[in-house]
Amino acid sequence: MRAAMLPLFSALLRKSIAHLWARRQVVVHHMAVMADTLWTMCHIPYGQVWVKSAMNVGMEQIVHDSFIYDVAVIGAGPAGVQAAVSAWHQGRRVLVLDAGAVSQRKGRAYWAKSVPIEDAPGFGPITGPKLRQHLHHLLTSRASEDLEAPRIALVGGYVLQLGRDGELFRISASLAPLKAGAVQAMGTFWARRAVVASGFEDGWPDVEVEEGKPRMLERHRAAFRYAGNQNGWHLCIRCDGHLHRGGHFVLLGVGDSIYEASLGAQDFTDQITILTNGRPHGFTAGQLAQLTARDVHIDSRPIARHIGAGTLLRGLAFADGDQIHADGFLVDEGLTPNSDYLADFLLRRNGDGLLLTGEDGQLLRVDGGAEPGLYAAGDIVAGQRKLIATAMASGQDAGLEASDSLRRWHEVL
Ligand SMILES: Cc1cc2nc3c(=O)[nH]c(=O)nc-3n(C[C@H](O)[C@H](O)[C@H](O)COP(=O)(O)OP(=O)(O)OC[C@H]3O[C@@H](n4cnc5c(N)ncnc54)[C@H](O)[C@@H]3O)c2cc1C
Repeated sequence: MRAAMLPLFSALLRKSIAHLWARRQVVVHHMAVMADTLWTMCHIPYGQVWVKSAMNVGMEQIVHDSFIYDVAVIGAGPAGVQAAVSAWHQGRRVLVLDAGAVSQRKGRAYWAKSVPIEDAPGFGPITGPKLRQHLHHLLTSRASEDLEAPRIALVGGYVLQLGRDGELFRISASLAPLKAGAVQAMGTFWARRAVVASGFEDGWPDVEVEEGKPRMLERHRAAFRYAGNQNGWHLCIRCDGHLHRGGHFVLLGVGDSIYEASLGAQDFTDQITILTNGRPHGFTAGQLAQLTARDVHIDSRPIARHIGAGTLLRGLAFADGDQIHADGFLVDEGLTPNSDYLADFLLRRNGDGLLLTGEDGQLLRVDGGAEPGLYAAGDIVAGQRKLIATAMASGQDAGLEASDSLRRWHEVL
């Protein structure tokens, strides 16, 4: 009997959902999903009642979140977590969407795989993956069963698009890993304010694992293996320079950013070599004079491959057969901001593509005005120091500014 009722129930459900969609009161998505996406869906915490109903209707995914959050935060790294907690603390209902559960984008701090982070506020020496766990606990411990109460909902979602829908922000996110770029399960969420805290991805060294294996994945496999380990590739001289005090530090990159890394490296050692991997170094005459005066050696030969074992990077082999061995290796090959989902907005950016904010943390448009209700924090903001404490401080600012802007009345001047 119950089985016979299922098609009828399903038809009624679809009809009412279509009706609500037309009235823009409910978000509805129909997605065909494979069974293996359900695991990801189960990660989505309280408030997303639709998760269970999605499982009941078999292969057809219906995502339904009618809730209008006060503040949506995109990214659950140090900046996003602090923004969320600060807004929650002022009584707001906060949604946090984080790509880490459904993609390899787990945030920069995560890459400190075995190197303890020693200067993160509120934490002792802690590896990146453990820090991420603690940050997520800060969010999940603020969940609540009461929809009207201040609360934080953490959702594993890769935000694909942020747009405006009248007074609200509309956020579309992939809730399962993208397969060959295709969305497997989609969710749409609404919020009155949004905080962008999705950071950036570091560029990896253009060095092959083995000569003659040019494919992207092969080429980058070793970089991933060595990244964030005590004797692997470092990405931040301020974070990891102390590990190689008095040792030989090799810096890979060209131009201003690697020059600045060499300025930072001098706090720890006098033995610095810059490798350009076959490219012109790109230094100004002044920079070159400084480097020469400090005995910084510049080697422009192309690099053929890594020399290492396990997660231990021992050296690099040049294309001409020579090798260089060192105590520490740092790469700065630029960055890519995690901001594709902001394509609907014409925002001001610096030369690296990082976003500019005004004094109140709102993002600035190319026309110079502020984008109302849209805030940003952390590494994705131009001019930040790109460290955890700075990211948390700017997260707090953005979270509080977003929250304050929701007050019913404001100070009269
Ligand atoms: C190897 C390494 C070691 C470091 N060590 C130190 C240290 O010792 N001390 C220190 O202070 N700093 C350190 N840093 C720097 C520090 O990690 C960053 O400054 C800090 O993590 C920036 O925080 P954030 O929240 O702005 O960005 P991130 O930490 O990068 O977090 C961004 C978040 O956004 C999410 N995201 C990205 N795209 C999307 C999307 N489309 N939709 C939804 N979510 C998205 C990601 O999943 C991630 O959770 C280190 C960095 C690296 C790489």
